[in-house]
Amino acid sequence: MSASPHFDDAAHSLSRREALRHLLAPAALLLTAPFLTGFDWHLMQYEGRDYIPAADIQKFYEFPRLERIGKHVEFRSSKLIMRWTSGTDDIYINNVKFCLSFPVLEKDGKLYVSRMDLSKLIHPIIKPSHIEGAIIFDTVVLDPGHGGEDSGAVGALGAEKNYALDTAFRLKRKLEALGYKIVMTRDKDIFIPRPERVAIANKTPKAVFVSLHYNAFNASSIGLETFALAPQGTANTDKDLKESDMVGRRGNKRDSENIALATAVHANCLYKLRSVDRGVKRHRFDVLAGIERPAILVEGGFVSNPTEGAKIHKPEFRDSLADAICGGIQNYRKALLAGLRPARVPVRATPPATPAPKKSQ
Ligand SMILES: [Zn+2]
Repeated sequence: MSASPHFDDAAHSLSRREALRHLLAPAALLLTAPFLTGFDWHLMQYEGRDYIPAADIQKFYEFPRLERIGKHVEFRSSKLIMRWTSGTDDIYINNVKFCLSFPVLEKDGKLYVSRMDLSKLIHPIIKPSHIEGAIIFDTVVLDPGHGGEDSGAVGALGAEKNYALDTAFRLKRKLEALGYKIVMTRDKDIFIPRPERVAIANKTPKAVFVSLHYNAFNASSIGLETFALAPQGTANTDKDLKESDMVGRRGNKRDSENIALATAVHANCLYKLRSVDRGVKRHRFDVLAGIERPAILVEGGFVSNPTEGAKIHKPEFRDSLADAICGGIQNYRKALLAGLRPARVPVRATPPATPAPKKSQ
């Protein structure tokens, strides 16, 4: 029992690194399915949306423990810890921060999560299953942000466009060494309009898309954030819902894959780099909205922070980030293959054409 908002205190049996490792394990990473049928959900309506109580989530996912700690509820199994906080839109799954589309709701002392967040975020991440129609990719489209006259963020030591291109080259070599084919939206310091980047991804078969960026804000902002396309009918992270958010985008057909890929890459980067975790977030960046392949955008750190900017300026850091992203992509692919294996190689007790033998006992 602990009132601490952190997971990594002594009261908890899963260490931070242990928990991160579980989140990276293929079996724990998975994906979506038509899952709301066949279970007695106690839905509640609030502002026109369905919400689901924590107790249903505990039962459906078979968490042995659900504990209320102050403003929080914590779900626990031997491999997963999930923590919600009343009234906030951040949840933590095995210490990784995810930004919900709608805040956790409290009513009569019980916490609820929106059905949208259950189906578009929690379920694809924690339910061992497989994505229907997931792209089994052998190609990665790498998209170094900005270029040419568009420098992107500019720090004291250098520009985002150059750091992003260098990181992409490093990632390209690492992925090629694992056997992936690589397509780059740019391989030199030129400006490529975003629609062209989208077109390159959409004409590349069996691919995922990874856009590489570095951040800038004020001098104190630090950390890593990874973006997946906002689902239809949800706001971008930290923004109000607006009318255009109700319109589906081409990339929304990959919602489950987008969040699973974002989780795999983001968690591996936190695990390997120990960066400050700004969360897996949602946005409708053009490159994410238009792409009909699983797509994410990684913001590798802040060039505007003196310490982080100096780190990003070092080739060793960019190489480590490339390593971590590469490992995340590989973990995502393993998770897909683990999920698909039963369908692709049916396990049969007897060969299909042979009559079943009589039971001897
Ligand atoms: Zn950028």
